[in-house]
Amino acid sequence: MSVTFPAAAPAPASADLSVWPASARAASDGDVTVAGVSLAAAADRFGTPLYLLDEGEVRDRCRAYRAAFPDADVVYAAKAFLCRAVVRWAEDEGLGLDVCSAGELGLATSAGFPPGRIVLHGNAKSPEDLYAAVRLGVGRIVLDSAPEIARLAALVPEGDRRQVMVRVVPGIAAGGHAKIRTGTGDQKFGLSVTDGSAQHAIARILARPRLELVGLHCHIGSQITSVKPYVAAVRRMVGLMTQVRDHHGLELPQLNIGGGHGIAYRPGEAALDPAALAVRVRAELEDGCAHAKLPVPRLTVEPGRALVGPAGVAVYRVLTVKETSGRTFVAVDGGMSDNPRPALYGVRYAPLLIGRRPTAAPAVVTVVGRHCEAGDVLAEDVALPGDVRPGDLLAVPAAGAYHLSMASGYNLVGRPPVVAVRDGSARLLVRRESLDDMSRRDVGL
Ligand SMILES: *Cc1c(COP(=O)(O)O)cnc(C)c1O
Repeated sequence: MSVTFPAAAPAPASADLSVWPASARAASDGDVTVAGVSLAAAADRFGTPLYLLDEGEVRDRCRAYRAAFPDADVVYAAKAFLCRAVVRWAEDEGLGLDVCSAGELGLATSAGFPPGRIVLHGNAKSPEDLYAAVRLGVGRIVLDSAPEIARLAALVPEGDRRQVMVRVVPGIAAGGHAKIRTGTGDQKFGLSVTDGSAQHAIARILARPRLELVGLHCHIGSQITSVKPYVAAVRRMVGLMTQVRDHHGLELPQLNIGGGHGIAYRPGEAALDPAALAVRVRAELEDGCAHAKLPVPRLTVEPGRALVGPAGVAVYRVLTVKETSGRTFVAVDGGMSDNPRPALYGVRYAPLLIGRRPTAAPAVVTVVGRHCEAGDVLAEDVALPGDVRPGDLLAVPAAGAYHLSMASGYNLVGRPPVVAVRDGSARLLVRRESLDDMSRRDVGL
């Protein structure tokens, strides 16, 4: 487990809730409650597909990170999932916020998040992104390419200075899938240490009086479940900090090692433990800096998935069950438009029948979505009760990160609502997208 929380109450053998929010409980009638809210009742009240977010779980995870990293800045990577309530929770819990567009930035500041605690990322920031960041006074801007340096400097008013970092590619391969590995030179993010482009960018930033280089950044990938690549990345980053000191006489006061901390999507899967990560990273940083005779920089970590992923549950209703070529397809009323991750990365989930007691032994089925695409598969070859039928509810745990933030308008199904659950009550955070919402953009004829 990534974070230690009170264990869930013993569940019946049929319901393994180990990757669910800690507040999840299996009821004797086959229902599951999260933070005291019945999923079956929530599905009736809000309709399906439905996303629930356990507010207490998100807050506990924020607190666990702050406890593990007491001397560091913990910055929530907003792209995992963003809405105004989540912005508020992150602010309440003392976190910073990492955004990668003027849109995410605007949402955060309109919800009252202090701009000074925001970090702007992006491999190709648009003029609007950079302008919004300068105008709103974002705390740190992480530069990711050479052309961006001059562009940003030109936007900073004369006599003003903005804090920037350089996104460095440390040459470390880590991450749960090729599409989310960002620590090596063969992908679009960052500036390489190996070919000298990071060093070159640093020199160019130092020549710009309107930019203040406060440190280095790296983000080696996502869904990483071992601390080793982080330790290796810290070693490389301290090496580059040493070069900066030797060539430019500058001791950088900050180091941001990104996020990417893995979570368990299915029972038995490994997750990264933030406390273990904190201890190993701090030890490596202190040793490396002592050896290089550098002051220890202030550390920033940027978890996204690890804060919200395990707090989310998706609830679908079964529309059809079909047997074909010896396989059973259970089709639900959502799919790749609310969760593109299985299609993008081949991710595997553990859906659970909820709301009634199963009356048949488990059978192997494939849970698919309702979209017009054969790749619209939510969970391939999973065990569900053999009597699963139309009208049943299926719940998918670990659904809080990179589902709705990546949701699309495919087939005009409409994006599902998000409901926060806490202390036995449910409140709507984001309402369901209606046909009216979609048609309003369609202004031509
Ligand atoms: C996506 C991203 C993160 C967060 O990644 P997770 O896997 O959600 O923890 C952190 N920092 C940067 C720069 C990112 O792009």
